[in-house]
Amino acid sequence: MSVTYKINELFETIQGEGSFTGQPSIFLRLQGCPVGCSWCDTKHTWDIDIVDQVDIDNMVNKPQESVSWANMTEQDILAVFKQQGYQARHIVITGGEPCMMDLTSLCQTLEDQGYSTQIETSGTFEVKTTDACWVTVSPKINMKGGYPVLKSALERANEIKHPIATNAHVDDLKLLLEKNNITNKPVYLQPISQKKRATELAIQTCIENNWRLSIQVHKYIGIE
Ligand code: SF4
Repeated sequence: MSVTYKINELFETIQGEGSFTGQPSIFLRLQGCPVGCSWCDTKHTWDIDIVDQVDIDNMVNKPQESVSWANMTEQDILAVFKQQGYQARHIVITGGEPCMMDLTSLCQTLEDQGYSTQIETSGTFEVKTTDACWVTVSPKINMKGGYPVLKSALERANEIKHPIATNAHVDDLKLLLEKNNITNKPVYLQPISQKKRATELAIQTCIENNWRLSIQVHKYIGIE
């Protein structure tokens, strides 16, 4: 039986964060996340409730963000790309927390079709994917769900992307990187909610540490 994925959203846009900023991308948002970040902007993806299951057409055409999700096989996903006429060649698998699943087969299937793949994860689950997949770990430290950030996820990361609003968030990140001996990854700081204070703190901290600024371009230009 083929693997199915619980997909909350599937859409084409421009990647607005991290190394791939500006890249036309197809986003696959998986349902389900137990991590519990208080400031999460996709809380509608947290629970997997069977009453929220809809068919693929309803999920793809949902008029706004919602708790509804559809079960899709890899072939279903490729069929929707074709049906929607998507042009992007880069796929971003996000959530929710996508690494609750083994994503190797999905990424391999997409790569076999000529797509590049990227996973965005909190780092609290083991990352299972292809070698070619670009892994963005946005470490969620000491969140309500009680899941620790895994050393293996940090080591697999191609980039670390950290949302910050206060000095404590910066300190948390430095401690995490130090504790896990992560010294050679591109680190992006992302001001939470585009707040002026958070942005100034991110700019200053990037300069001090030779890190990079990620400003969620999609939010400034008003796209998804
Ligand atoms: Fe939200 Fe991501 Fe945190 Fe899950 S890990 S609660 S989806 S921000």
